[in-house]
Amino acid sequence: MFNDYISKRQHMVDTQLLPRGIKDPRVINAMRKIPRHLFLDEALWPEAYEDHPAPIGEKQTISQPYIVALMTEALKLQGTETVLEIGTGSGYQTAILAELAEQVYSVERLPNIAKRARRTLDNLKYSNIVITIGDGTLGWREHGPYDGIIVTAAAPSAPKPLLEQLKAGGRLVIPIGDEFTQDLTVFIREDEQDYSRESYGGCRFVKLIGAHGWGE
Ligand code: SAH
Repeated sequence: MFNDYISKRQHMVDTQLLPRGIKDPRVINAMRKIPRHLFLDEALWPEAYEDHPAPIGEKQTISQPYIVALMTEALKLQGTETVLEIGTGSGYQTAILAELAEQVYSVERLPNIAKRARRTLDNLKYSNIVITIGDGTLGWREHGPYDGIIVTAAAPSAPKPLLEQLKAGGRLVIPIGDEFTQDLTVFIREDEQDYSRESYGGCRFVKLIGAHGWGE
C-alpha cells in the first residue's frame, strides 16, 4: 500500500504537472516527496493523487495538485524566504512551502481545520511552520514584511494589508474574481508605492471570508 502511494505520486507529477508546464525543479521535487494522502481523511486516500480538489470538512477543499504547483512556482522561492500563507486548510500547501522557503507563517480562519493541519504537519516533523487562527485578510504584521504571500481562497480584490506586508521585490499570489471563477494573479511590489501585476490563468477557489474579503 505504501509503495502504491509513492507510485501514484510520481504518476501525478508526470501526468498532471510536467505536461502543463510546471518547470521549477524544487517545486517538482517537493510534489514528488510530500505524502498528499496524509492530509486527507483515510477514506479519501485512494483519490488523493487525482487531478481535482477534494473535501477537507467544513465545506473547504484541498486544492488540485496542479494549482498548488502553479501557485508555488509563481512565488519563485529559492530557499531563504519568509512566506505568509492565508488559508492553511489541510496544510498540504503549507508543507510544500516549508520545503521550499526558510520559514512559513500560515493563517486559518476555522479553528478545527487549523488544529488538524497542525497535527498532520507535526506528524511529518516540520519545524519551520507557525500556524495561527484568525482573519488572514489582515495579514500577520508581527512577522512581516514577507518575501512572498500566498492566498489559497478567492478574493474580490487584493487585500490592502497583504500588499503592505510585502517586501520590495516580494510577490503576492492570489485568486481574484467573483465567487464562481477567478484569475490567478501575482502582484509584485516594485518599490514602496508601485506594484506590477501578472496573470496566471483561470481557477476556482472557496471564498476568502474576512474584513478585506467576502462577508460571512
Ligand atoms: N491550501 C489549502 C486550501 C484550503 S481551502 C489546501 O490545499 O488544503 C481555503 C481555506 O481558506 C479554508 O480552510 C478556509 O477556512 C480558509 N479561509 C477563508 N477565509 C480566510 C481568512 N480570511 N483567513 C484565513 N483563512 C481563511
